[in-house]
Amino acid sequence: MAELLDGNRVRDEIKAELLGRVQAIRQRFRAPGIAVVLVGDNPASAIYVRNKVKTCQDLGIYSETHTPPASIATAELLALVEQLNQREDIDGILVQMPLPPQVDAKRVLDAIRPDKDVDGFHPVSVGNLSIGNPGPRACTPAGVIELLKRYQVPLVGAEVVVVGRSDIVGKPMAMMLIHESATVTVCHSKTRDLAEVCRRADLLIAAMGKPALLNDAHIKPGAVVVDVGMNRVTHPAEVERIWPGDQAKRAQLQQKGSVLVGDVSPLSMAARASFYTPVPGGVGPLTIAMLMVNTVTLAEARAHRAGVLLH
Ligand code: NDP
Repeated sequence: MAELLDGNRVRDEIKAELLGRVQAIRQRFRAPGIAVVLVGDNPASAIYVRNKVKTCQDLGIYSETHTPPASIATAELLALVEQLNQREDIDGILVQMPLPPQVDAKRVLDAIRPDKDVDGFHPVSVGNLSIGNPGPRACTPAGVIELLKRYQVPLVGAEVVVVGRSDIVGKPMAMMLIHESATVTVCHSKTRDLAEVCRRADLLIAAMGKPALLNDAHIKPGAVVVDVGMNRVTHPAEVERIWPGDQAKRAQLQQKGSVLVGDVSPLSMAARASFYTPVPGGVGPLTIAMLMVNTVTLAEARAHRAGVLLH
């Protein structure tokens, strides 16, 4: 019987551990501060930002949200980032992706000071991860590592397959696993015989953005499966393919217009894995928790540079 890796539980643990650190910073320095830049009116981005702001409030972290219009030019956005770079009360700057097409997203992300890079996407942060220096880490893969460690999933020497090679999930995930002494294989859309490679994995991590693409054929019996994917399925035939005969899912589709699914068939994970992350409630909650960890760590570093003794 497969067991769940409960992201909500681990999120709550991480938040509880952060409270004491936030209190110490507030008492001896000032509230840790994060500035979020939300461009335009993408509803999904607005929900993500609302959740981030709410989590800050729960923890006593100061947050402010800047909402420039979708028509903003790259130069204007760069000016806003520079303003935030200069602010002494802001420890972290987060520019919510995606940005409108006329904006040079790479230039904007690169303009964030590396010591305020809460998302861990800046080339300096990527370099620090690569050579094992301290610094902010990409939140989603860092959350996966945290989850695996807290469930004591063995990583040293483990055969791990990561499906996906994006800069925000797949690549940093692989790098973090190398640092944990796992044997890592990274797959992508050009991989030959994906199922054969995936079946080698003691630990299979899916980050492709393809609804329930991986199934029984990809999971070695007893493997641990981490499903990073978050896909909204809107077609009844897709719902039927993923959950055959499941009336509750069909009703959910009718009520809400979509059903959330990861990159791995939930039925296959339940049937073949030893442990797996549910969608929702697996990896998702950890991304924001790790954003808070990065914010608090950057605030501690700033306090330290200001000569404040926290402990
Ligand atoms: P990207 O689209 O940037 O990358 C997808 C990767 O998957 C690419 O490397 C691509 O290969 C690979 N891929 C696509 N199709 C296949 C296939 N058929 N076989 C093998 N590999 C394939 O996605 P992200 O990394 O940004 O996100 C991945 C998923 O994770 C999405 O569902 C996203 O919503 C979710 N996500 C969830 C988060 C959370 O908090 N839970 C946070 C971030 C993302 P190639 O490079 O060759 O094109």
